[in-house]
Amino acid sequence: MRDMHRNFRNVGKIVYGRGSLDQLGSILEPVRRSGTGTVVYLVDDWFEGRELEARLAVESGDEVHYLDASHEEPKTEQVDELRDGILSRSALPSAVVGIGGGSVMDVAKAVSLMLTNEGSSTRYQGLNLVERPGVWHCGIPTISGTGAEVSMTAVLTGPEKKLGLKCEWTPFDQLVLDPDLTASVPTDHWFYTGMDCFIHCIEAETGRHFNTFSQAYGDEALKLCREVFLDDGAGRSPANDEKLMVASLFGGLSLTYSEVGACHAISYGLSYVLGMRHGIANCVAFRQLRDFYPHGVDEFEAMVEKHSISLPAGMSDGWTDEQVRRMAEIAFGLPHMWDHALGPDWQSEITLDRLEAIFRRL
Ligand code: NAD
Ligand code: ZN
Repeated sequence: MRDMHRNFRNVGKIVYGRGSLDQLGSILEPVRRSGTGTVVYLVDDWFEGRELEARLAVESGDEVHYLDASHEEPKTEQVDELRDGILSRSALPSAVVGIGGGSVMDVAKAVSLMLTNEGSSTRYQGLNLVERPGVWHCGIPTISGTGAEVSMTAVLTGPEKKLGLKCEWTPFDQLVLDPDLTASVPTDHWFYTGMDCFIHCIEAETGRHFNTFSQAYGDEALKLCREVFLDDGAGRSPANDEKLMVASLFGGLSLTYSEVGACHAISYGLSYVLGMRHGIANCVAFRQLRDFYPHGVDEFEAMVEKHSISLPAGMSDGWTDEQVRRMAEIAFGLPHMWDHALGPDWQSEITLDRLEAIFRRL
C-alpha cells in the first residue's frame, strides 16, 4: 500500500536576520574541518563585482562561480559541467554554497548531489533516483517567493524533460536568510517571484490535499503577502523584504504538505513550450483562472494595479496550433495537480480541448 502521509525532509538549520550573511564564515568553519576544507560558491552573476563579493568567506582552494540566471533556466548539462570541472581541479569539496534565486539555488542543490553520484544528472531526474547523499550544501536566497530554499526538489531542464532531482538529500543542510540581499531585486521580478509564493498558498488551500499543517504555514504566508503587496504600507521597503522572505519559506512549507494546482499546470505548459520564466508564467496563467480561484484572482488583480505591473497579454495570437496543443498536453500530463484541484474525477472537467481554450485566452 502507498503511504498515505508524506514523510518530508525539512532543511537542516536556518539563520535569519539582516546582515546574517556575515555569519557565513563561522557557519562554514566546522563544515570545512569535517572534510577537505574547500568550499564551492555558486553565485548569481548580478552580484559579480559588487560588495557582496568581499563578504563571502573565501579561502585559498575555494572556487567561486558566477551563474547567469537572467537568460537560462538551470540545465542538466550546466550541472554536469560544473561538477566535472570541480572534481578535475581538486578533491571533493566540503561544501557547496548557492547564493541567488530559485535558479541558482536549484543548481547548488543539484551540484551537491552530482558531486557524489556518477554519470549525468539526466539519470537522476525524477523521484528517489539519487543513490548517495550529496555534499553539505547551504542556500542563501537573494529574491523571495519560489520556496526553492526549502523544497525537496532541484528543477533541471534536460534534453528530454524538465524535471527535478527529488530525494531526501536534496534539501539544504543550512539556510542563511538575510533580507538585505533582496533589496536590489528589480520591481518586476520582485512582483513575479513574490506572486509565486502567493499562488503556492492559494493553490495549496484550494484542493483535497489541504490540511492543518499546510494551513498553518499558508495562512501566515498569505497574511505576509497581503502586507507586502496589498494593504496600506505595501511596496518596497526593508520591513517588507523581511516579510516576503519569511512568506516564501512558509509558502514553501505549506506547499510541501499540500500540492499546487491548475495555475502551476498551465504555467508549466508555458515554460516548457516557450521557455517562459516560472514567476511571470504563473502570473499570466493565474489571471485567467477565475473559475478555479475567484477570490485569489481578485486580490491578484488588485496587486497588479497597485504596483503598476505590466503583464503580457494577447500572447496566443502568435502561437501555432501545434504549440497550443503541446502546451495543453504538458498541462494535462500533470495529474497530481489536477487531482488536488478537482479530485480523482478531474478528467470529467479537464480535457485537452478545455485546456487549449484556456491557453488561447492568454
Ligand atoms: P531567478 O533565480 O530566476 O532570478 C530572477 C532574476 O532576478 C535574475 O535575472 C536574477 O539575476 C535576478 N536577481 C536575483 N536576485 C537579485 C538581487 N538580489 N538583485 C538583483 N537581481 C537579482 O528567480 P526565481 O524566480 O527565484 O527562480 C526561478 C527559478 O526557480 C526557475 O528556474 C524555476 O524552475 C525554479 N523554481 C524552483 C522551485 C523548487 O522548488 N526547486 C520552485 C519554484 C521555482
Ligand atoms: Zn511555483
